[in-house]
This record gives sequence, structure tokens and C-alpha cells, in this order.
Amino acid sequence: MPESSSRILVLYTGGTIGMVESEEGYVPAPGTLQALMEERPSFRADDVPAFEVHEFDPLLDSANMTPDDWLRIAEAIRARFETYDGFLVVHGTDTMAFTASALSFMLHPLDKPVVLTGAQLPLDETRTDAQGNLLTSLLLLGQFSDRLAGVHLFFHDRLFRGTRVTKVNADSFGAFDSPNFPTVGTAGINLDIEWDRVPAPYSPPRTPAVTELGAATVSAFRLFPGLGAASLENVLAPPVQGVVLECFGAGNAPDQNEAFLEALRDAADRGVVIVAVTQPLRGTADLELYATGQALADAGVVSGYDMTTEAALSKLYYLFEQDYDPAEVRRLVQNNLRGELTPPEEVPSALGRTRRRLAGYR
Ligand code: ASP
Repeated sequence: MPESSSRILVLYTGGTIGMVESEEGYVPAPGTLQALMEERPSFRADDVPAFEVHEFDPLLDSANMTPDDWLRIAEAIRARFETYDGFLVVHGTDTMAFTASALSFMLHPLDKPVVLTGAQLPLDETRTDAQGNLLTSLLLLGQFSDRLAGVHLFFHDRLFRGTRVTKVNADSFGAFDSPNFPTVGTAGINLDIEWDRVPAPYSPPRTPAVTELGAATVSAFRLFPGLGAASLENVLAPPVQGVVLECFGAGNAPDQNEAFLEALRDAADRGVVIVAVTQPLRGTADLELYATGQALADAGVVSGYDMTTEAALSKLYYLFEQDYDPAEVRRLVQNNLRGELTPPEEVPSALGRTRRRLAGYR
């Protein structure tokens, strides 16, 4: 690959990738990742862009990440935005998809690339996936820093849109997928990017504003057969402002459970924004399709379409941060703001198309 003149900032937040074994199991160890990268000649190859490592203190297992940590990452990027051509956020895999979605909403406009990566095994292990994930992320950033904008996640030879990716496997090297949006790029013999799937950066790049997330109270609740209305009432109780409701199939819920519907209606009347997403990895929650979905819509729930729970939660945090009233949050949560959802008229579902045609939707 050609030599790169880009300068990349590596923000190391923690995760397995730089962990060492301890008596309590794997723990993040300060200085380890940078030392291991410096030891390895591949990281000094001509085609690898110049990079500097900024290590967070404390390093975190990403299970401990909070919106305050998202803010630290976003601020670190904004503060050095003019100095570097691209940003590599090295992160634990467990909540990396949440951080990818959150950063997508927090940093705006984003005319330079931010790539998140991590690994299933520490860089020091013989069969590690860390070296490939780090090196390929750096090469992607180096080679495409002037064309690749927005937040992406690179893992196991695939580049995903930040608002579409989710962790799907705790054991395999292919830990992530993007079930409702095609892969943005692949790293085979060549590094290939599908440019029509990437937002076009503005030139010259503008320094992004950072929206702090985390002040709103949001939550997520997964429906299951036999759920009692009381547990849902607890989730919807004040001070909660927004809830992601993980529904069955195409956005369905028990429409014969009057207490359940009443709990939703009551919360929606109080201004709680309830967004339906689908439990299956692939597909869309469209409350217009079935009577069991329509009952949710009648109770004040809105469609989250094919958003991941990660994206829907980050989006609720973000919209409440703008001080919109609940009606405006309900309207905007259904709009595509950062490539996080497919509008219903573009959903490739035969049933959806038929239903809409019959209803004169288009
Ligand atoms: N528990 C680790 C973390 O998310 C897992 C990993 O990095 O793969 O920080």
C-alpha cells in the first residue's frame, strides 16, 4: 500500500485488547497496549500512518462505560480535531456498539473519520485478533482520511456504520454485525469501501460541536410472554423520559393485555416517549403492519423502525438534550438523523409494501 502522510490519534479507552491476566481474571493494564504496539515492527511499516497514543485514565472494561466516558472521548476528539486527520478509538467490545452510536449523535458535523475497534483476545496472545484489527483500522484511516467521514466500527475484516452495528457474538472473532445496513467496507486482499454508504465530508473539515449525553433518564425494556404490567410500570415510572421497547417481530405486543396497554397509555400521556424496536436482529418495527402493533401506536408508542437498541437509546438521550418537548422527540426519533434507520417507504418488506399500497401510503 502507498505511504501515508496522515496523522492519526489513537484513543485507548481500555478493553481486552490491552488487558493482562490477573488473579481476578483479565484487567486493563496502563501502558501495555502502547508498549506492545511499539515492540511490533508492523506498526512502523511505511504504509501505516504516523500515530500517537493517548491513553485514558482509568482504563476501563467497557462494561463500566458511562455517558461521562463518551463525553471524555468526544471531547478528546474535538480538542485535537485540527491536529489529526483521523481518530481511532480503541475500546472494549462489550459496549463498543453503544459508544459508536453515542459518538455518532454527540459529534456533529463530523467531517473526519472516527473508527472504533477492539479485540476478542489481548494483543499479547499468540492467536490474537488485536493486531489485525488495529493495523487495518490504522491503514483505513491513513488511506481514506480525506474521504471517510463519520463514526464507523472496524472489526474482523469489516467496516460498519457506527449507528448500525451491534455485538452479535461473545466468542467468535467476528463479534459484530450490522444486520439492517450493508457492510461499509471490507478488508480482503484490498481495502474496499462502498462510498455510497459513507457520508460525504465537507471540505475544509469543520470542528464538530459536542453534545453531552446522559442528563436525560432513558431505559430499555424487552417484552416477553407472560410479562406483568407491574414490571413495565416500574420502567415507565418518573423520572424516566424515554424508553426503548423491544417488541416482538414487526413491532408487536400483547394487545389482549389491557393492563399492559394501560401502563403504556398512562406513561405516554405523562410525556414519556416510548419507541418500539424489534427483538429479531434483522427487520423493522412498524406499528402499522399488525393489529398487535396498531394497539401500541394507539397507546402512544412510536415506531423505531430498524434501529438497534443501541442507536435508539443514544438518539433518545440526544433528542432530550435538545430540550424538545415530547411531541417533537416523538417526531424526530422516527426521522433518520445519522443514518441510524431506514425510512418505512424504503423498507424491503413485501408485507409492508403490500400493506402500504392497500392503505394508499405512497
Ligand atoms: N469485557 C471486555 C470489554 O468490553 C471485552 C472486550 O474487550 O472484548 O472491555
